[in-house]
Amino acid sequence: MEEKVVYIAGMGLIGASLALGIRRQHPDYKILGYNRSDQSRQIALERGIVDEATADFKAFAPLADVIILAVPIKQTIDFIKVLAQLDLKENVIITDAGSTKLKIIQAAEKYLPADKVQFVGSHPMAGSHKTGAIAANVHLFENAYYIFSPTRLTREETIPRLKDLLLGLKARFIEVEAAEHDLVTSQISHFPHILASALMEQAGDYANGHELTNHFAAGGFRDMTRIAESEPGMWTSILLSNSDAVLERLTDFKNRLDAVAELIGQKDEEAIWHFFDAGRRKRKEMEIHKRAGVDSFYDLFVDVPDEEDVILQILELLRGTSLVNVHINEENRDDINGILQISFKSESDLLHAQTLISQHTDYHVYLD
Ligand code: NAD
Repeated sequence: MEEKVVYIAGMGLIGASLALGIRRQHPDYKILGYNRSDQSRQIALERGIVDEATADFKAFAPLADVIILAVPIKQTIDFIKVLAQLDLKENVIITDAGSTKLKIIQAAEKYLPADKVQFVGSHPMAGSHKTGAIAANVHLFENAYYIFSPTRLTREETIPRLKDLLLGLKARFIEVEAAEHDLVTSQISHFPHILASALMEQAGDYANGHELTNHFAAGGFRDMTRIAESEPGMWTSILLSNSDAVLERLTDFKNRLDAVAELIGQKDEEAIWHFFDAGRRKRKEMEIHKRAGVDSFYDLFVDVPDEEDVILQILELLRGTSLVNVHINEENRDDINGILQISFKSESDLLHAQTLISQHTDYHVYLD
């Protein structure tokens, strides 16, 4: 693999985390960064996320063997147009990180010279509501899907070379056609963001007349609305670049809500039960149950009191096991036990942990 200079435009959460993953596998590669604001540029330099940083997008582009555009979608398209005018290295690979693919790929195919540059669309499918280089995390993409969407500018070598460059992310690489990518993500990502914000807005307005709304909102409501904290600019850009698919999902959902409203109005107990049962069954079938893509895991639940050091005490007991995740299924009430959920890679570790906790504590331990 001959790539030596990687240029990442956008030292935000995604760009800076990609840089850390590339460094992990290829410490000898030179990583150059662009960021328009001083803050993330400084953080990227101070933390050694990049070797050099600039506020002038054009400056480093001609030096690069690989260029990764990790800025909002609208800006990604603008930068593709800028790159088309520059004298870049022969056969440079250009890719992006945008959450939608079709508009970006159309721009790349329209503006970039196919005989001089290679382009493949990318979507590293992990993130958080945090932004900026300050939130960079080398583990962000571990076990997450990393999607490549081929274009007319993708050559046989393009994706294998990128896979090698990005090996340190420990992501799960997969190729998906851009149109299909945008349809699927409209369902599982873009539309849920609209729902979360609408639900938050509804509850916020309700709290004006019913003050306890803010106090009673607990675990379930929090799970449903977590993504309402996402960055508004990024989500505006995403929705506008995939508006047809999102609108189609929205209409479909309205119809489903109307159907449920009708069942409630008719007091159709059996149909309402089936509505909930279908949701429960479909959720169990989803890969979502394999947390963050970990292929198999085994869950243990412990009723723990809300007391100091209880969780530490349990984790201490489990030292040396294949524990992969710890989650507190917290309820917003003082008088009930919290439920600690611990996931293991192997069944034998799960059973061993169950025995250990039962022997050394009087907490109730049970399996999923
Ligand atoms: P971020 O807010 O952390 O970083 C955005 C970066 O873009 C920053 O470096 C910012 O300075 C730069 N930027 C924004 N507007 C700009 C403009 N007009 N001109 C020049 N630079 C500009 O966001 P992020 O989460 O790193 O998102 C970057 C890309 O990754 C987006 O395309 C987003 O769709 C995609 N993405 C985000 C997530 C996620 O959950 N955060 C996940 C996968 C992909």
